[in-house]
Amino acid sequence: MRFAQRIEKLPPYLFVEVTRKINRMRAEGRDVISLGIGDPDIPTPEYIIDRLVEAARVPANHRYPESDGLPQLRQAIADWYERRFGIAFDPNKEVLPLIGSKEGIGHIALCFIDPGDLALVTDPGYPVYSVGTMFAGGETYWLPMTEEMGWKPDLDAVPEEVARRAKVLWINYPNNPTGAVADLDFFERCVHFAKKYDIAVLHDAPYTEVAFDGYRPHSFLEAPGARDIGVEFHSLSKTYNMTGWRIGMAVGNERIIDALLRVKSNLDSGIPQAIQEMAITALNGPMDAVRKNNEVLQYRRDLVCDVLNGLGLRAPKPKASLYVWAGLPAGVKSIDFSSRLVEETAVFVTPGIGYGPSGEGYVRISLTAPTERIEEAMRRLAAWKPEPALAAS
Ligand code: PLP
Repeated sequence: MRFAQRIEKLPPYLFVEVTRKINRMRAEGRDVISLGIGDPDIPTPEYIIDRLVEAARVPANHRYPESDGLPQLRQAIADWYERRFGIAFDPNKEVLPLIGSKEGIGHIALCFIDPGDLALVTDPGYPVYSVGTMFAGGETYWLPMTEEMGWKPDLDAVPEEVARRAKVLWINYPNNPTGAVADLDFFERCVHFAKKYDIAVLHDAPYTEVAFDGYRPHSFLEAPGARDIGVEFHSLSKTYNMTGWRIGMAVGNERIIDALLRVKSNLDSGIPQAIQEMAITALNGPMDAVRKNNEVLQYRRDLVCDVLNGLGLRAPKPKASLYVWAGLPAGVKSIDFSSRLVEETAVFVTPGIGYGPSGEGYVRISLTAPTERIEEAMRRLAAWKPEPALAAS
């Protein structure tokens, strides 16, 4: 058998060693608390599940769904966007349901990237933007981000010939892994840059509803002209605790939505309709559960940041997202810190290097473990005495 180069080219799974270590520790009976994955522990609200149960009994929902989803779902998405961000979209041309946003994020590369084409991708970041690019035969040009830049890319630093070759610009706010948020001014700069070089902007925005202290994240599509050159990926995963049901959406430029539908209708056969019914109920329903979630997450965020800052790390409180992104003392490697922490306290946090070279020197702590587990993890960290090489000087 000879596999395609794209399989060989997949980046090595950096956490193999750590995952093995965690499994070994658990087999030895140690109570490992993993704060690695961003997967909400709080269940999907009951009234959304009730809708699934009802819809599962309807024979029409046992058949192949349409690739572009139920018209009522596209309408519910358009209505939700209008209520939340004050922007109106044509549900038949500017909205496309997805099998979770990850599916659309991966597939959209096939709409833009030919062999040798470039995608501009922020670093650190969610790995699917660059892997999708590679699967389509393209190359990633990394846009490094730093704490000093508020975890935004410096678009003026992109060389002219790179900008001319690039087909897409990937951005993601509220950001994973850094928790950074973006204002409309930044989004406007992205629109300006994209129009100048005829680039599509792909904004990944699954965390706009996970926000704290009364902060309301913006949609990229609020920026004037954004709809001319871009789409936004959104998801019910984090807003309604629905990661397991796999449903999301792309909204924005009509030509991009049409291209993505053409790719998808040749590869998948849509989202199970009973799950689309759940999404309609969620999107048309009250936001009380979302508010309650955020209260729980905000308590966890405050606790985690206080303990990490007490340890001498730099852990500013994020305004949004499911993550605390903590800066390590100068020179400490994220993988060393994470390995030592899990060995000595049985608490796992993700090394920042896993999100790209600019993530080195940071760790990501996910707020999606049950509150009592996060409290226990923080008790262990507060009592931890790291060896001098890992501690703040
Ligand atoms: N984008 C970002 C930045 C994420 O962190 C995630 C999931 O963790 C996704 C997209 C995918 O979300 P889903 O496929 O569940 O909609």
